[in-house]
Amino acid sequence: AARITGLGKRFGERTVLDGIDLEIGASEIVALVGRSGSGKSTLLRILGGLDSPSAGEVFVDGRPTIVFQEPRLIPWQPVVRNVALGRPTPRNRRTDELAARDALAEVGLAARADAWPLTLSGGEAQRAALARALVAEPTLLLLDEPFGALDALTRLTMHNLLLGLHAERAFGVLLVTHDVLEAITLADRVLVLDDGRIAADVPIDLPRPRTTAAPEVSEYAARL
Ligand code: ATP
Ligand code: MG
Repeated sequence: AARITGLGKRFGERTVLDGIDLEIGASEIVALVGRSGSGKSTLLRILGGLDSPSAGEVFVDGRPTIVFQEPRLIPWQPVVRNVALGRPTPRNRRTDELAARDALAEVGLAARADAWPLTLSGGEAQRAALARALVAEPTLLLLDEPFGALDALTRLTMHNLLLGLHAERAFGVLLVTHDVLEAITLADRVLVLDDGRIAADVPIDLPRPRTTAAPEVSEYAARL
């Protein structure tokens, strides 16, 4: 889904990324961990086309889409309109809204489609943000600590949701997280970013699904 060679990023005098080489397969889930300020979000923004590299090359096959830690919904548009805004090329209001409603159903949020964003819970708002990313039909889903602010049960539900969507649609995923356990649970490979470089690239050779090993817990969580 993406290939980076010799990527460097400076902000003024400060070098944040320094010679990153990285490949993400078309249906691979890669987790990226690293200290606060190590450049994880910067790397994601560059892959998402929201920032440009100072050196090196970035190639993304198809369409990258970022989900941020905060859902970033527009408060004066109902949820369904927010999701429709994710469409790659807005066609017409009706088809865009139908696609948005489908995506909301996929993330289990159909019932809140016409709600105002400020009335959603944290987990619901993050589901809406995920639905908005899905309608963009991404080839590479860039997740910047999307589950960090959620409680443990909601996070488990979101993990299962992500794995289910990934199994159906097979996009590449780059997941930034502070939670090493989350990284191991979800990813095929865990990257450690340190001092501007990929300090470790560790394959996780465990069968998937992993969190669905506790289906009754996540089913219960989904009903809470
Ligand atoms: P966190 O885990 O806290 O989210 P991070 O690994 O995502 O951290 P980045 O947000 O990528 O870190 O920031 C890396 C470094 O680059 C930080 O020192 C930050 O202050 C700096 N930085 C990021 N964006 C800019 C900018 N636009 N201008 C100047 N410095 C920046
Ligand atoms: Mg960050």
